[in-house]
Parts: sequence; C-alpha cells; structure tokens
Amino acid sequence: MNHEKALVWFRRDLRDTDHAALSAALAGAQQVYCAFVFDTRILDALPSRCDRRVHFIHASLLELDAALRARGGGLIVRHGWAEDEIPRLARELGVSAVFANRDYEPAAKQRDTAVGTKLGASGIDFHCLKDQVIFEHDEVLTQAGKPFSVFTPYKNAWLKRLSPVDSAAHPCAGAIAGGELAGVPSLAAIGFSATDLREVGIIPGMSGARQLWSDFSDGRLKRYAALRDFPAVKGVSYLSVHLRFGTLSIRELVRAAHAAAAETWLSELIWRDFYFMILDHFPQVGRGQAFKAEYDRIQWADWPAGLAAWCAGRTGYPLVDAAMRQLNHCGWMHNRLRMVVASFLCKDLGIDWRLGEKYFAEQLNDFDLSANNGGWQWAASSGCDAQPYFRIFNPVTQSEKFDAEGKFIRRYVPELAKLPNQYIHAPWRMGRLEQEATGVVIGRDYPAPIVDHAVAREHTLARYAVVKQAA
Ligand SMILES: Cc1cc2nc3c(=O)[nH]c(=O)nc-3n(C[C@H](O)[C@H](O)[C@H](O)COP(=O)(O)OP(=O)(O)OC[C@H]3O[C@@H](n4cnc5c(N)ncnc54)[C@H](O)[C@@H]3O)c2cc1C
Repeated sequence: MNHEKALVWFRRDLRDTDHAALSAALAGAQQVYCAFVFDTRILDALPSRCDRRVHFIHASLLELDAALRARGGGLIVRHGWAEDEIPRLARELGVSAVFANRDYEPAAKQRDTAVGTKLGASGIDFHCLKDQVIFEHDEVLTQAGKPFSVFTPYKNAWLKRLSPVDSAAHPCAGAIAGGELAGVPSLAAIGFSATDLREVGIIPGMSGARQLWSDFSDGRLKRYAALRDFPAVKGVSYLSVHLRFGTLSIRELVRAAHAAAAETWLSELIWRDFYFMILDHFPQVGRGQAFKAEYDRIQWADWPAGLAAWCAGRTGYPLVDAAMRQLNHCGWMHNRLRMVVASFLCKDLGIDWRLGEKYFAEQLNDFDLSANNGGWQWAASSGCDAQPYFRIFNPVTQSEKFDAEGKFIRRYVPELAKLPNQYIHAPWRMGRLEQEATGVVIGRDYPAPIVDHAVAREHTLARYAVVKQAA
C-alpha cells in the first residue's frame, strides 16, 4: 500500500506513540496529516455543557497537537458531524487514504460505515485497524467457533493465544504534515466550559497517563492483587480514563503485566477485551437488552425517590452513600464499590439496572459502553457470566469487609466521621442515647436506611422468580 498523502483520524486514541493507524499511515504514505473531529452527534447528546470527558479530550488534544508540531505538523481539528467532516477534509487535503483505529460501539460502527462509503465514493481508501484491544472480533473463539460468553474460558484462550507480536508496539516515528491547518479550538468555541478536572486530581493527556503508569508500575502493580478491593487504599491503577481515551497503549500495559507476572491485573485488562468482544458480537446489549433475554421479564420498581436518594448518596447505607458521593465528586468510583452500588440499586431498591447504567454513563469520566453495560448486567445477573440472581450483596457486610475501619466512609460522608468503628457501617444500630452522644441522630443528621436489607432481599428473590420459571 503506497499513498502520496494520507490522513490519520484520531478518535479514542489520543497519543502519537504505539498507535496502529498512525504507524500504518507513516509506513505507507509520504505525507501524513492528523485530524480529530469534535463530533456534534456525540457532544449534543451530553446532558451538560460542563463535562469532564470533553475537558479531558480537549486538554489531551492540546498535548497531542504539541507533540505533532514537534514533528513538523500538528493536529487539524474540526467541529461537526464526523460523517461530513472527515470526507470533506480528506478531499480538501487531496489524500488517497484515511487511517483510523477500530471502534466496537454500535453507533461508532455505523458512523465508520457511513464515512467509509462517502470516502469510497470519492475514491479514497478507508483503513480501520485494531488498536484498542489485544484481540478482537473472532480472534478468540470457543472450540465450536462461537464467541465466548463466560469469562474464565475466554481468558484462558486469550492467554494461550497471546504471543509477543500481539503486544508489540507499533513504531510511529516520522514527520507530520499540515502545520498551517492545525490548531485546537478553545473549549468555549465548541460550546463547552472548563471543569474541575485538575482540582479532582486528573491529569489529562499522554503526560498524565505516563505519570500514573510509572507510579503504578513502579511497585504498586505487584501489590495490586492484595490491595485492589479496599477503596480507602491506593491499590488500583486509576488508569481507566486514560485507557478510555487512549492516552496510553493497551499493548504497553499488557507487556508490563505479563513480564511482571501480575496475573490479577492482567485479568482486568482481559475483562476489558472481553466486554468489547461481547458488545461487538451482541450489539443489542448496548441498546438496553439483557444479555439473557429472560431477565427482560423482570418487573422493576417504579420508585423515582429511591433512585434520587441513590444518585445523591442518601440511602442511609454509609458505604453505598460514600461511593455515590465519590462518583459525584470526581467522576470515578472504585471497582468494588461499583459492584456494591449497582447491586444495591437493582437488588435492594428493586430499580431497573438500566437507570443506574444511565447515571453512571453521565457521571463516569471513564464511561465506556462495553465495560459499563457489562458491569451493570453482571450486577443485575442478566449479563453473560453474571453473578447468580440469588447472590445479593449485603451492603453492611461488604462495608465491614472492605472498609473495616470506615476510612473511606469517613472521607466521603463527613457527617459520620466521628462515629466509632462499631457503628460506622450501620449507624441506625445506635440507640437514641448513643445517637445524641455522637451527634448523629438518624433521620436528622443522616438518613434512616431507605430499605431494610433483609426485607429487600426477599422482595428481590420474588421479583427474580420469573427468571427461574423461564429457565
Ligand atoms: C457497574 C460497573 C460499571 C462499570 N463501568 C465502567 C466503565 O464505564 N468504564 C470502565 O472503564 N470500567 C467500568 N467498570 C469496570 C471497573 O470498575 C473500572 O474499569 C475500574 O474501576 C477503573 O479503575 P482502575 O483504572 O483503577 O482499574 P484497575 O483495577 O487498575 O484495572 C485496570 C484497567 O482494567 C480495565 N478493567 C478493570 N476492571 C474491568 C472490568 N470489570 N471490566 C472491564 N474493564 C475493566 C479498565 O480499563 C481499568 O482501567 C465498571 C464496573 C462495574 C461493576
């Protein structure tokens, strides 16, 4: 493949190293342009004009533009419908090929088909490459040639297939063209405003990713398996937003995890591939359908006040409330807590998992349709390889186990900070005198539990009985 001029279209891969599309364009063309589109189809659908994800992208683009300028060019940025902007730009530049990294979300696949058709009509090639994942489509299948729907055998087959080639870096050295057209518009110019991204500790761009990664890989990676379930401890990598926007390469992480024999962390990266594969093969899950169809027969509670209390972190269950307040504060939540609050919404409050999925989609900086849907359907038991419907997390036991001293709770629910450990997980167990003495009167200073877990559990088992009947 040899082109005089090519265009690289950046989407969720905001870096200029180990980048499949950039690498292929540099190898196959004499002049390479780079572009990003602020896609109004995506931006217009966001509920707020002050969105940390847009801010993160914007700041990462500034860094990417600077890196590309150092190679003689820069990043050309457009604002509009990608289906229009990319073919138009490609024609203006006179390129004969556009390169991009593949996206597995249904809407993105539709967009890419439309772009490819329009480019094709102008005689321009459209090359989409694997970059976001280690294995895609049909690369890891069951012996019967079907997609896996259970994680452990998928993981085993994934590991068996992994060779150094799969995680090798794509070389990206070379000059970039188009400096005179490059430049990132201000956030205001695309109708958005700055957020508290940096105040809540998020450093965008390749430099932010690098900083987090060196901090994690230099020691904490080895302790991940032991510490990853404790939200008050710095046990996880916090890399999810960077993986979401591709400010670092999955191949680099897989190489390092493999070399360090960090099996548990590597497993999490494989979960990421797994959910991308599920969404790719079963796009209906991204349109609100249960992976296991019989779960769509469940009658959920119509309880707006319950949902509002959950969203605000005012359910009266300290660990759930602390987790939701963490999400509302900084747009990230610890994985253990995502499982706890998701289970609480559908199995304690009896509220449809799709409403929780939607709230997470609005709030999470790392929101990814595949992992979010996978996580929610796991918690609701409707997913592929989900937790069985009769397994219902006890929010108090989870709290005692994973935040024994209530450190995490005290950080995010300050009105409980002075409670002794004995009551931090279930403050309603205090007698009236203890409540007065600690200054936490239930119903006045902190909500009474919105449901009784034991009763809710029985309701849930009854609600899920339709599933058992169908099975
Ligand atoms: C209800 C629910 C919703 C979720 N929504 C999302 C989401 O929208 N976006 C998202 O990236 N993750 C989601 N997760 C998965 C997981 O909670 C986050 O990836 C993780 O907490 C991010 O923190 P970290 O980067 O420190 O992760 P680490 O524990 O350091 O893991 C490293 C990376 O592996 C990937 N990963 C880890 N766990 C999972 C998983 N279960 N599924 C898929 N990938 C995983 C992520 O890319 C993560 O950054 C969800 C989980 C649940 C239970």
